[in-house]
Parts: sequence; structure tokens; C-alpha cells
Amino acid sequence: MKVTVIGTGYVGLTTGASLAYLNHEVTCVDTDDRKVEQLSQGIMPFYEPGLHELIHMRPDHIRFTSSAWEAVMDADVVFFAVGTPANEDGSPNLTFLFSAVEETIGYLRMKSKPTVLINKSTVPVGTGDQIDRKVKEAGLANRVMVVSNPEFLRQGRALFDTFYPERIVVGGEQAASDVLETLYAAVLNQSFESPLLTGRPDGYSLPDYIRVDRRSAELAKYAANAFLAMKISFINEIANVCDRVGADVRQVAGIIGADPRIGPSFLQAGIGYGGSCFPKDTRALQFIADTNGYDFKLLSAVIEVNQSQKFIMIHKLYEQLGELAGKQIAVLGLSFKPGTDDLREAPSIPLIRTLVAAGAKVRVHDPVAMRKAAALLPDSVHFAGGILEALSQADAALLITEWPEYTSMDIGKLKSVMRRPLVIDGRNALNVSEHDELEYIGIGIGMKG
Ligand code: NAD
Repeated sequence: MKVTVIGTGYVGLTTGASLAYLNHEVTCVDTDDRKVEQLSQGIMPFYEPGLHELIHMRPDHIRFTSSAWEAVMDADVVFFAVGTPANEDGSPNLTFLFSAVEETIGYLRMKSKPTVLINKSTVPVGTGDQIDRKVKEAGLANRVMVVSNPEFLRQGRALFDTFYPERIVVGGEQAASDVLETLYAAVLNQSFESPLLTGRPDGYSLPDYIRVDRRSAELAKYAANAFLAMKISFINEIANVCDRVGADVRQVAGIIGADPRIGPSFLQAGIGYGGSCFPKDTRALQFIADTNGYDFKLLSAVIEVNQSQKFIMIHKLYEQLGELAGKQIAVLGLSFKPGTDDLREAPSIPLIRTLVAAGAKVRVHDPVAMRKAAALLPDSVHFAGGILEALSQADAALLITEWPEYTSMDIGKLKSVMRRPLVIDGRNALNVSEHDELEYIGIGIGMKG
């Protein structure tokens, strides 16, 4: 099929590259000329494992342009995958989406070929209906259909999730869902050769193709993220209780996660969730409930717990060091999770700003996110060329992102370069034994060593 993807961020580029790999003819459009220029030259504008390689596997099937006109005129389907960031009041900002929609509809008026408009951006319930109304007002109802196709990929594992999803959800009328079933046929039947080093996971069964109405599809995306955020905030609350009663949250999580009604995933206690999705999507769902006359109390608590959880690291640091002024602190990890350079809502940024404001001297390290972080952090922050440089002469180290480079760190070397071997592990990810003689503090696991 001829596919146009509007927006070449994490979602749009992954969608475009995957569909090109599956032999569709893909045109990716972005208003950011620099991004288009970089992509046309084979340069990745952000880090996502395997994506660069995937694009290079089908160079004849994918192209990049800032001209939506030519891309839309020829397309069978047009994806919208633009950002929907949060406004001040938590409502999703739909400016980018409607700008792309208006422009596309303008071109569709000049085209007779049937086209399916597929929204992949996370949007409030009723947005698809609004797009549909615009299509009808433009007199295009007989040849343009609108569907919601929410995206469930995880950054850092975007390709894996795209080629091996648990479900593909399509909300809209039957004829449009049929078009998407054809578009995704290779994934639905798993009739492709895996482009990934990992290959098809053991025990993987074919994804469900879930046809629903547009509104349910839109709400399901928010509900999924809110549920996962709730699991994280719940286990973090349990961790905070563990710290007070001398229990170990990892053992508690293991026990409750063994119950299949609960499940083990998203029960790793730490300093909370970040990134471009959970914080904004939980606030958006709260806003949606609110504006529809419903006080979603559970979700409000999930958000509140997460907002304070990251600062638990700072409290633990004060408990150990007293005043922070003049103290040297190493920060390991900046991105909101391993496998990405995304810093949107990363807890590292407010934490480092707090440390600097308290007079601490901060040295940071991250395998991929340092360049992006430089624009967000105070000038006094030192960007270390390596892990040991960050730790050198530190009074304490904070582990913020559980990159494998850190979790497999040689504890002996770490201790030898630090002034005081104090590590506060915001992800309970270091494998520390009593023999390491480290002053090791996690979240909800007490102090070891
Ligand atoms: P992003 O910010 O990485 O990328 C958005 C891209 O859209 C940018 O390159 C921007 O320049 C471009 N853009 C904006 N307006 C445009 C226009 N009018 N025409 C063409 N291009 C335009 O965003 P993302 O992380 O890929 O997220 C996109 C959507 O998908 C959001 O609604 C997000 O909530 C949702 N989502 C994201 C993830 C994720 O993990 N990132 C997962 C699931 C769903």
C-alpha cells in the first residue's frame, strides 16, 4: 500500500520504517526541516535501538519530505503521529494534530482516490469524531474514512513492540478496519522474516486484531497507561511503607506478583515514572474525567504519589550527608528509562536542579542522553566522559536510570574512586552483596552493607 506518515517522532518513524520493511511504499512527513534533512541523509534525530538499521534495510521503500502535499495525494492511508503534549491545565494540546488534519483535508479535496485517515496520536475521546466531522464538512465522506489506531509501543523497545504486539486496536467503521487489517496483514499473520537480532520471542502467539468503536479505542489508550502508572505508584507507596517498617519491597513485590491476577510487571519500586507518555496521559485522563463531571480520585492519587516519589532520593541524601552545599554528587543516568535518549519528564532533570540549588557540585553521566541534557541543566553541571569520571571524588552517587552499564558496574572500582562509597539506588537495580562494603540505600529495601 502507499502509506503516508505525518510526524517522524518515536511513533511516526517506527511506524514508517516498519511498514517500509513490510514492503509498503512509505513517505514520512515532518514540519521540522532539519529532521527531514537529517533523515534523508541517513542520520537519526533521536536514539531508538535498531531503528536506524531498519530504515537502511529498505531504502527504496521509505522517503522523507516536508511537503505533505505530494505525500498525501498519492496515499492509500495517512497516519497522524504528531505530538499531543500537555497544556498547563493537563489537557492535551491538539494544535499539531489539527494543523496536520486541516492541511491533509485541504489536499484530499483535490484527490479522487479513497483514503483512510489513521490517528495514532494519543488524543481525548471524541477527537476522531471531530476529524470525521471535518471530513464530512469538506464533502469527502464518500471517499475518506477516519479510524483510531492507538499506539502501545514502548520507547527503547519500539521495534520489538511493533513487530510482535499483543494486540492491534482499530476503532472505526468496518470498511476502514478492513483496510488496516490488510495493511497490518504481515504482522497479524507473522508472515515476515524478523528484522531483529532477537527474532520472534519464544511462545509468542499471533496478535489480537481488536475492532472497536472509535471512542473506546481512544479511551483504551489512556486507560492502559493509567493502569500501568497506577501499578507503579502502588508499589512505590508499598516501598515507602517498607522503609518505615523494615521490610523489603522486592520480596513483597515478588510475592504479590506471583498471583496471576496481579502479575509481576510494573512492580519495580523506584523514583517513579517519567517520559513523554505516562505523566501526560494520566493528567489528560484526569482532565477528560473532570471536564465530563467525574472526579477520578484514584488517578489523582497516582499522579500525586508520582510527583513526590522522585524527591525521596534527595531526602535520603540529606539523611546521610546533612547539608549538600559543597558536596560532590555523581548522577548516573539522565534519560527517563534505559534504551532511549528521551528526557521528557525525566526525574533526573528536577533532581539535578534541586541538587545544584542546594549548592552541591554535580557530575552526570548517561550513555546516550548527555547532548540533549546539556540544554536543560544548569551550566555548573559537569558532563563526565565516563562512569568513573562521574564518580571520581564523589561524596555520594545517585543511580537514576538503570542502564546495563551501571547495573553491571564493578563495585570495587566504583568504591576506589569515590570519596565516600555511598550509593543511593533510585531503581533498586544494583546487585550489591554485603561483601561489597558499600553504603547502599535503595527504595523500600533499607540500608545494606
Ligand atoms: P514526537 O514529539 O517524538 O514526534 C512528533 C513529531 O511530529 C515531531 O517530529 C514534530 O516535528 C512532528 N510534527 C508536529 N506537527 C506536525 C505537522 N503538522 N506535520 C508534520 N509533522 C509534525 O512524538 P512521539 O513520542 O512520536 O508521540 C506521538 C504521539 O504518539 C503522541 O500523541 C504520543 O502521546 C503518542 N504515543 C507515544 C509513544 C511513545 O512512546 N513516544 C507511545 C505511544 C503513543
